[in-house]
Amino acid sequence: METREFKNYVNGKWVSSSSGRTFESRSPATGELIGMLQLSNAQDVQEVVEAADAAFQKWRKYPAPKRAELVYKVSEILRARKQEMGELLTREMCKVLPEALGDVQEAIDMAMYMAGEGRRLNGLLVPSELPSKWAMAVRDPLGVVAAITPWNFPIAIPAWKMFPALITGNTVIWKPASDTPVLAERMIEIYEEAGFPPGVVNLITGAGGVVGDGLVTHPKVRLITFTGSTDIGRDVNMKAAQHLKRVSLEMGGKNAIIVMDDADIDLAIEGIIWSAFGTTGQRCTAASRVIAHQAIKKQLLDKLAARTAKLRLGDGLLPTTDVGPVINPKAVQKIHEYTEIAKKEGASVLVGGEPATEGDLARGAFYKPTIFDNVTPTMRVAQEEIFGPSLAVLSAKSLEDAIEINNRTNFGLSTSVYTTNVNRAFEAMRDVTTGLLYINAGTIGSEVQLPLGGTRGTGNGHREGGGPVVLDTFTEWKTIYVDYSGRLQRAQIDTDALVKKI
Ligand code: NAP
Repeated sequence: METREFKNYVNGKWVSSSSGRTFESRSPATGELIGMLQLSNAQDVQEVVEAADAAFQKWRKYPAPKRAELVYKVSEILRARKQEMGELLTREMCKVLPEALGDVQEAIDMAMYMAGEGRRLNGLLVPSELPSKWAMAVRDPLGVVAAITPWNFPIAIPAWKMFPALITGNTVIWKPASDTPVLAERMIEIYEEAGFPPGVVNLITGAGGVVGDGLVTHPKVRLITFTGSTDIGRDVNMKAAQHLKRVSLEMGGKNAIIVMDDADIDLAIEGIIWSAFGTTGQRCTAASRVIAHQAIKKQLLDKLAARTAKLRLGDGLLPTTDVGPVINPKAVQKIHEYTEIAKKEGASVLVGGEPATEGDLARGAFYKPTIFDNVTPTMRVAQEEIFGPSLAVLSAKSLEDAIEINNRTNFGLSTSVYTTNVNRAFEAMRDVTTGLLYINAGTIGSEVQLPLGGTRGTGNGHREGGGPVVLDTFTEWKTIYVDYSGRLQRAQIDTDALVKKI
């Protein structure tokens, strides 16, 4: 079968890059060529920004409930194509099929949630301190929004950004990760079918350093909503600061599961396996540390190691597969470098610790689920994001000690605490300093009704993923006073005198 060449989507049309060049997207499990994509350049960036900027002036006046109807339509089409999109997701990015379907479902949920917001978009209406004066604040869109997204949630993460951006009246340029561009193309076909006006939703593929950077530095792009690594996010933030742009950053994690001596150990093991090795450890919220109370650590580790060793690696499309490949051969190399670092620093490898190359696995990018024991809090495997199926196990004397270890990294995304003691659960709710906290569940499992995001090196204070607070990222507050008294009323000066006259 001939491999399809996909185009950029600009101003409602599918167009080739003026570079005349393309790049490939291949399956990490089999090396299969999934599609050819436009390797866009600076001129393409200029054209897409002009298109989105021109479309903004009309789109911002489109009633929000009507904007919401289009977003809702996306959810309906996506629901009808859920299986097809899930299978493509597994082919291009290789998380196992049930997880791929979950990724698509997250976008459906977000579209439905945000479509409801189209009929709310609550502002503020408050009493004035002066008579015959109306005081309120409304949300205005920002303008052109650039959504720069990673490959690990190639459908859900763009949905977290694009639906609220569109509902609030912004136009969007999407720059997807170069590892999952075909999914982005297929997703844009759905936006097109839903009937968005030309220029409101646009797609441009190509290298982050060219297309991403071009969007970050273009003066007409007013918001950069970026999800990716902390190093690139920092760079994006610094460049955008030159233009005083708003930048919303969702970045790396070093998430921990704390297991107390009173925990249900079997339940904790289920949560650890799911959080550490689900999506092959390539979730921003994946657990890459277990902080076990010293009294139960051995018992926990014996069972955990036995379960981990039995996990079956393979193509995510096969029902027998528990753990898929990592995103590309470079990732295998990086993960293995961390295994070597761990050993050098004195940790021991309890399970895994090497690439998996048996049989068909040799065609893909596979790494064995790995557990490091005897890890101390300052070791690099306890501090740095590896983004693969590697789990560091640390020991704590008490809940206080465990929380202190948990909080002492440069990241602050997700923490989980397993305990059957209600007081300990509430202490954790008070003292853990990550943006997400789970009690008696793993580190993953966000829902669209509540915000997702992190502290320290994980984010810069914005939230996405859901809940009404995400609207703050995509809107500017406009405060409006209407004086219908027919005279000059001076706030903070005339208040007492004017009130006496009433
Ligand atoms: P990445 O390498 O930082 O890339 C993210 C996006 O930025 C991609 O679209 C990339 O394009 C683009 N990019 C690269 N260089 C750029 C530049 N100089 N200027 C502007 N954009 C540029 O991250 P990734 O490997 O795709 O994703 C994994 C990371 O994302 C992990 O650190 C993970 O923790 C994080 N993540 C965080 C969250 C969260 O909610 N906190 C969620 C998911 C993932 P190319 O693909 O073309 O290079």
